[in-house]
Amino acid sequence: MADNAEEDALRVALAQQYRYVGSLGLNELASGNLSCRLGADAMLISPGGATPESMQPESAVKVTLDGAWAGERKPSSEWRMHAAIYQQHAAAGAVVHTHSDYCVAVASHNQPLPGFHYLVGSFGGNDVPCVSYATFGTDELARNAANALTDRTACLLGNHGMICRGDDLASAVEAAHRLEIMCRQYVLARQLGEPDVLNDAQWKDFFERARAAGYL
Ligand SMILES: [Zn+2]
Repeated sequence: MADNAEEDALRVALAQQYRYVGSLGLNELASGNLSCRLGADAMLISPGGATPESMQPESAVKVTLDGAWAGERKPSSEWRMHAAIYQQHAAAGAVVHTHSDYCVAVASHNQPLPGFHYLVGSFGGNDVPCVSYATFGTDELARNAANALTDRTACLLGNHGMICRGDDLASAVEAAHRLEIMCRQYVLARQLGEPDVLNDAQWKDFFERARAAGYL
């Protein structure tokens, strides 16, 4: 179990990053949520209905990965999606879920974000997949999202939004921000028709160079 000093530091970081995500405009009307792993079998997650103004370190809810929690505040209704990702992926130290505008725009077509730009590769492959729609808060949605994050660090959620994982809160928030930028640029590119995508040889070169440079 994490000691108190570690938990306190993670609570401060979670509140800071929650406010930062709000300042980026990625979490309007508390539609998204953030979490970080806590020890071997738990996480800290933003509470349901938190706003950037109301979010404090003590607002974060400690939830075991099988769903036990205590206290006055309820965890985000999407705690199952976060817990499933920590259970399935040892490398996940933090998870961010949003309904940011351009991610929703692409996810509403139930299509992956194609590899129209080399930075799509920063999520681990030649596209960012989109999982089928499932009702919010369900085990089905949690399963879909956790499976999609096996060989990618982010996915779109059909008719819903996006979710991503990172080593820590800062890297997960950066990934959520980057995916929103990439989806915005893709939507802009679509104004001129379907854009070109990188071919297999170009992806191979990209991944070799990115790994050699330590970016991936
Ligand atoms: Zn949601």
